[in-house]
Amino acid sequence: MSIATSINGCLTSVTAAAKTSIQRTASRPSFFARFESSSSAASVPRLIRDQPVFAAPAPIITPVVREDMEEAIAGLKKVLSEKEESGPVASAKVDQVTAQAASTDSKPFDPVEHIKQGFIKFKKEKYEANPALFAELAKGQSPKYMIVSCADSRVCPSVVLGLGPGEAFTIRNVANMVPPYDQVKYAGVGSAIEYAVLHLKVEVIVVIGHSACGGIKGLMTFPDDGPNSTDFIEDWVRIGLPAKRKVKAELGDAPLADLCSLCEKESVNVSLGNLLTYPFVRDGLRNKTLSLKGGYYDFIKGSFELWGLDFGLSPSVSV
Ligand SMILES: [Zn+2]
Repeated sequence: MSIATSINGCLTSVTAAAKTSIQRTASRPSFFARFESSSSAASVPRLIRDQPVFAAPAPIITPVVREDMEEAIAGLKKVLSEKEESGPVASAKVDQVTAQAASTDSKPFDPVEHIKQGFIKFKKEKYEANPALFAELAKGQSPKYMIVSCADSRVCPSVVLGLGPGEAFTIRNVANMVPPYDQVKYAGVGSAIEYAVLHLKVEVIVVIGHSACGGIKGLMTFPDDGPNSTDFIEDWVRIGLPAKRKVKAELGDAPLADLCSLCEKESVNVSLGNLLTYPFVRDGLRNKTLSLKGGYYDFIKGSFELWGLDFGLSPSVSV
C-alpha cells in the first residue's frame, strides 16, 4: 500500500467516524464550532490534555529511501556476481552501500520518543539502581554546590562535572551571568541565590563560563547602549559590560575570537563580584560558611579550569 493510499484510507476512516459521531451527537456544536467558540469551558480544545503524551501515535515513516537502498544492494550483489567479483573488495562495496542504507534508514527524529527513551534509561540505570539515594532525595535536598552556568546545550554542568541528583542547585541562563542585586529586575536569579544560600546552605557557589559562548560574543559585538535589536538578550548580556571594557582595554583590536575567549573568563569574575552585592552572600563569606569559585569549561580543548576569588587568595587549578 502506498503512503498516499494509506493516508487516503485513514482520511476515509476518519471521515466515516466523524459522520457517525456527528449523527450520534447532533445536538452538540460541530467540531469547528467548538474551536471557534470561547464562551464556555466545553469550547476548550481537547487536543493533548486527554492523551498520555507518551502514547502519541508514531509518525508516518516514508519507506521510499529504504526500498531504494534495498534495491541498490540487491543490484550491486547481482552485478558483482555477474562479474564474478568476490572477496574483500566485493564485500567492502556491499558493506559501504549497506551502511549508507542504514544511515538513511533512520526514523525521523521524534522528540517525544527521545524523551521517553531517555527517561526509561535513566529510571533503569540510575533511579532503580540507587534506591537508597533516591529515598534520601525524596525527603529533601542538601546540595553542597550552587552552580551558575550557561544555557548552552553543550555545557550541562551535571554532565561535564559528573554531578549526580541532589549535588548541585543550578541556575542556567544566557552567558552564565549573575546580575547585581536588584529585587525588581532580577528576581529570578536573586530568588535562586537566596534559596541556595539561606535555605539550602550551599557551601560553594561556582560560576562557570565556557568556550565559544554565543552570549559573550553578543556582548562583545552589540553596541554598549541602545537601540536594542533584541527583546531581552542585549540588556541581559550587558551585565558583563565591565568585563568587555577590561578586555578591550587589555587586548585592544585583537581578533574577535581572542577578545571573546578572554571575556568568557572575565565575565565570570564580574559575576563573582556581583555576588558580593547580595547581603546573604556577603554574610556567608564573612562567616566562612560559603566560598565563591570561578570555572571555565573549554569544550574545544577538553579542559576545565577552576579558580578562587576569595579574593585572589586561592590558587588556580587546571584540569
Ligand atoms: Zn554560553
